[in-house]
Amino acid sequence: MRFAYVNGRFFPHGEASIHVEDRGFQFADAVYEVWSVRKGELMDADGHFARLERSLGELRITAPRSRAALEHIIGELLRRNRIRNGLVYLQISRGQARRDHAFPKQAVTPTIVLTCKRLDLAAADARAQCGIAVITVPDQRWARCDIKTVNLLPNVLAKQAAHEAGAVEAWQVDRDGRVTEGSSTNAWIVTKAGKLVTRQADQGILHGITRARIIKCAQDVGLEIEERGFTPQEAYEAREAFLTSATSFVTPVVLIDNHIIANGEPGSLTLSLRQAYLGEA
Ligand code: PLP
Repeated sequence: MRFAYVNGRFFPHGEASIHVEDRGFQFADAVYEVWSVRKGELMDADGHFARLERSLGELRITAPRSRAALEHIIGELLRRNRIRNGLVYLQISRGQARRDHAFPKQAVTPTIVLTCKRLDLAAADARAQCGIAVITVPDQRWARCDIKTVNLLPNVLAKQAAHEAGAVEAWQVDRDGRVTEGSSTNAWIVTKAGKLVTRQADQGILHGITRARIIKCAQDVGLEIEERGFTPQEAYEAREAFLTSATSFVTPVVLIDNHIIANGEPGSLTLSLRQAYLGEA
């Protein structure tokens, strides 16, 4: 049986619920965080907890649990669900209150939800061996994509467009014609000159924890990194392309808007960064 955690208790997954006037449901007034779990351990735990704290702070939601308490609950959730390799999802909303856009006048208790699911590592590896296709779409999101909120409708529509086009991910393009990031991943290219390029971590993208780790892995082996937006045209002509996230680690991209990248095979630098990331985990 699967279990979920809601507001202090574990429930069978199908019986777990939140109130109809929860502000997360009514207004997307909530943040979330995702950890991947390998061999029973949270990957990049510090980075994800730090980002959670920042997201809560930006929305002025008081953390309902300490990091130590959250780690304890996550451990118990993984144990009950018998998961050693998978993903843990945490949502924290401002809480439940009579519907009104402004924050509740009387402070309410934040809602906390934790769920987890198993990850098929063999399938993820197989995907990385072949590489994936992405399409580009206009970035239709709000101006604070650096806060990890559950306000994901534009991301949902972008991912759906990708799937309908036979691709795995959608790279979003801003008004200046530059790629910001994927719908649930950060976007990267390797130029013909061998430079790693990924969008600067401003308010236009989520500051990926995997992105930060890959920057460090790349610096450790002396690679040159440019943090700037790149155009779809630059990506079509790149030597390599890939994406990063806690859920997909480092995944090679071999097709962008039907343009074959280099020889259509995953790039060697991409695969070595994937290996470095997973090896260090
Ligand atoms: N960009 C977006 C929009 C995301 O939703 C995610 C992950 O959920 C990422 C990037 C990758 O972030 P991380 O590496 O922390 O998983």
